[in-house]
Amino acid sequence: MRYADVAVDITAKALDRLFQYAIPSELENQVEEGAIVEAPFGKGNRTITGYVMSISDQPKIDPEKVKPILAVVTRLSDEEKRLTALAVWMKDRYGASLASAMRVVLPARKRAPARQQQVVGLAVLKDEALLLIEDMRKRRQAARLRLMEALVQEEQLPMEVCTGKLHVTGAVIRALAAKGYVRIERTRVYRNPVLPEAFSHARVTLNPEQAQAVDRIFGEMQHRPDCRFLIQGVTGSGKTEVYIELIARVVAAGKQAIVLIPEIALTYQTLMRFYHRFSGRVSVIHSKMSAGEKQDQFDRAAQGDLDVMIGPRSALFTPFPNLGIIVIDEEHEESYRSEQSPRYHAREVAFRRGYLEGACVVLGSATPSMEASFAARSHEIGLIRLNRRAGESSLPKTQIVDMRREGPAVGDLILSDRLLEAMQKTLERKEQVMLFLNRRGYSGSVVCVSCGHALRCPHCDVSLTLHTGGELVCHYCGYRQRMPARCPECGSTYLRTFRYGTQQVEAVVEKTFPNARLLRLDRDTASRKDGELNVLSAFANHEADILIGTQMIVKGHDFPDVTLMGILMADLSLNIPDYTASERTFQLLTQAAGRAGRAGKEGLVLIQTCRPEHYAVRCAAAQDYDVFYEREMAFRQGAGYPPAGGLLAVHMSCPDKDHLVLGAGYVRKFLERVKGEDPMVILGPVDEPVARIADVWRMVLYMKGTGSAPLRRARGWLEKYIEINPGFSNIEVTYDTTI
Ligand code: ADP
Ligand code: ZN
Ligand code: ZN
Repeated sequence: MRYADVAVDITAKALDRLFQYAIPSELENQVEEGAIVEAPFGKGNRTITGYVMSISDQPKIDPEKVKPILAVVTRLSDEEKRLTALAVWMKDRYGASLASAMRVVLPARKRAPARQQQVVGLAVLKDEALLLIEDMRKRRQAARLRLMEALVQEEQLPMEVCTGKLHVTGAVIRALAAKGYVRIERTRVYRNPVLPEAFSHARVTLNPEQAQAVDRIFGEMQHRPDCRFLIQGVTGSGKTEVYIELIARVVAAGKQAIVLIPEIALTYQTLMRFYHRFSGRVSVIHSKMSAGEKQDQFDRAAQGDLDVMIGPRSALFTPFPNLGIIVIDEEHEESYRSEQSPRYHAREVAFRRGYLEGACVVLGSATPSMEASFAARSHEIGLIRLNRRAGESSLPKTQIVDMRREGPAVGDLILSDRLLEAMQKTLERKEQVMLFLNRRGYSGSVVCVSCGHALRCPHCDVSLTLHTGGELVCHYCGYRQRMPARCPECGSTYLRTFRYGTQQVEAVVEKTFPNARLLRLDRDTASRKDGELNVLSAFANHEADILIGTQMIVKGHDFPDVTLMGILMADLSLNIPDYTASERTFQLLTQAAGRAGRAGKEGLVLIQTCRPEHYAVRCAAAQDYDVFYEREMAFRQGAGYPPAGGLLAVHMSCPDKDHLVLGAGYVRKFLERVKGEDPMVILGPVDEPVARIADVWRMVLYMKGTGSAPLRRARGWLEKYIEINPGFSNIEVTYDTTI
């Protein structure tokens, strides 16, 4: 008789161990490592599914009592089996249950029915279409023009592409259909998001910087297939072209590629560049796809029908037979970190997968994360720089406007004279203006608008948050103080939490520029049906002169007529109660600045701030990543934050507040005992920045240490302590380890 150790697919932490089952003789040939099986579980013998982790000849208990496996649901392919090794590593690395790690790595294998898709096709001959296009151009019918031009090239396009990536509304398409210019058809599709046969597309010739980057990485791969690189390239320096060329060589060598892109940057333009180069052998997954649609794409990859998979975080688990390269574009993006257990970071998991499967990992960003930069500067990964913009446009001119000097109503002023004047000129030239209101960290941080000083915790060097009742609280260590009457730096009484939002900005702009056409994009307008797309497409069509918005307007969209970007309250995100506040601010401001002056027009960026001397603001204005890195690293080293030190966060949540406070207190006591003489620092427990979600209370405790090993050891002991202690059965505990 042979036996299988099975990880049961049940979330309960207490069950996160292996259960042994007997393999009945009729299933002998089918049960193998990695297989998904059904088996009886618990006293009632209800049927559960589980993953076979290993097989042995030895029963661990009385052989009479070992229950048999009932059925084999699926047998995993070799590709999928390799991925289970990744799940085991994730379980250890992130302190998650094996079942939850397996669910991330091998997502649900549900079958969704094939679906009907609407396709828009050209209903007139090409010559006739070209005449119509001329006419539309004269009449400035931008949306119609865009659709017709795309259809002349592609002949037909999925409806989603027309309304989504091309920003053409359903009403416009129906109007064209009514005139008989286009046809809307329903077709049954194999759930394959690849567009129709791609037309030939002029390839760019790589410039010397780009060509060198490709040669260096590909050369290194020849003797070290699992090498790692960071490409630090300014916005528009041609990183995407480097990825494409590199991938073309990898594919020519018979291997496959995964390209991770943040969901928000997954634009039609980017996808088309890959489709044109790799035609039908590219696929994409994204969050709007059903589980079945994603699985279809994974199946195609495993069958060898694909060379390239593009998508957000979850595309990392594409089961390719011979993976050669993983590219992570915009690797600094927060969306690469999962907020659910296992709280993994795509960069770390990509490194591990690369190591397990002998694949190269390439990270790219204009503003690399501190982690990636640190690894590159300590020579763990190769560093490649692209210092110039590749196309015709140059980087925009950037100026800082010091809001402390802007008149008597200090801090209440929304638009400075400099910005008003620049807006006036831009509108006169019939170009477009974007006003980006930085609202990150909006809730509760307190700033002196006279000197720019922000109230911070004396122990943790992060911003304090104002709570109702006028108390300031630190979200790392729990330090509290009363709201002071005067600024501790300069003595002024102008201590403020910023209170103005996009609507106030809109009101001021409306009054000052009564003839300008305005659009606003924030959480309000975006939540209306198709709100975000409608606003962005209207602005892209130049149906408005000024777009006012929050972070949503910063990423992933190109507006060729925008030549002025005004950044309001640039320093606000410096007050996010988190040690990464300066890094986030630098990234946000650099990204925002990169929006102005694309497509050959000269751009101007004005950054309004009360803290013009802060290095995150100054370095973003100067587009100087290296100086920023040095300054930020000095701060991280001084305060012992990652990547200079390790940080373990223990997140705890429970519907019963008192019980949570009690449990969190025990966690602290236990960690203190475990730590002994180790030079580790324990902070908290404290309320999470959002202390309650859906009636579940949330607390967090941090442990800082110099290296990762002692922290992981402490976490391992804590996991055991929590497992055997019934008091924790209704407290959910997850871990976040940054090293
Ligand atoms: P990044 O990914 O670094 O932002 P992209 O690869 O998107 O940069 O390139 C920015 C723009 O420059 C694109 O329009 C692209 O087509 C163009 N471009 C890139 N490389 C070249 C090149 N070698 N020659 C001409 N244009 C280029
Ligand atoms: Zn002050
Ligand atoms: Zn503190």
